[in-house]
Amino acid sequence: MDDLYRRAAEIIKDSKCLIALTGAGISVESGIPDFRSAGGLWDKYNPAEYATIDAFREDPVKVWQMIFDMSRITQNAKPNPAHHALAKLEEMNILKSIITQNIDNLHQEAGNTNVIEYHGNASHLECLKCFASYPAEEFELDGKPPTCTSCHEILKPSVIFFGEMIPRNALVDSQRYAESSDAILVVGTSAVVYPASTIPYIAKQRGAQVIEMNLEETGLTSSITDVFIQGRVGETLPKLIELVASL
Ligand code: ZN
Repeated sequence: MDDLYRRAAEIIKDSKCLIALTGAGISVESGIPDFRSAGGLWDKYNPAEYATIDAFREDPVKVWQMIFDMSRITQNAKPNPAHHALAKLEEMNILKSIITQNIDNLHQEAGNTNVIEYHGNASHLECLKCFASYPAEEFELDGKPPTCTSCHEILKPSVIFFGEMIPRNALVDSQRYAESSDAILVVGTSAVVYPASTIPYIAKQRGAQVIEMNLEETGLTSSITDVFIQGRVGETLPKLIELVASL
């Protein structure tokens, strides 16, 4: 086990362009269950009915029932030791970018400044009519859907609903980082959903070493992962970063 940590720490220490790919698993220890897991958001709300852009346009009041629930989960969440460990890696000028599938803003709250978000960020609300944008904290997110102060349209969280395009900048930037990376940390994700699914493979193809940190083995583990560290990332990641700092 200590051998694995040492190998991973040396890869990180020697890297010129380390990137991280994160998913729901890194935020579970902040109290945000994977939306797709048992007991997750999609257990309570059928995404086809509540999480498509068409559903929102047709009946935003109904969809806001789901969003209120989502906000209760994400708004009170705080970064956990895994988020702080990645922030420390950026502070050490080793980690160049985080590509995340999460919408919870916890990487930014921990202090990371270069975060590429595939699915947007729930800390902002936007108006589909006049494109105004608001910090979500300006509104009481309970009971009645918040409306645009200029055109009174019901606002939508700045997250990507099913049926919406992944932001083009996020696609271009993440691909660029994957192509120029020489090491990638895959944290809390099995990376099976596009476009996250392509990133470790692009990096590997360009010669990057793949360090995977997950609770369970994934499809990556036996195919392209160079070092697999199993366990709760709130424990394993801080331990690894401490070792990097000591080298
Ligand atoms: Zn508006």
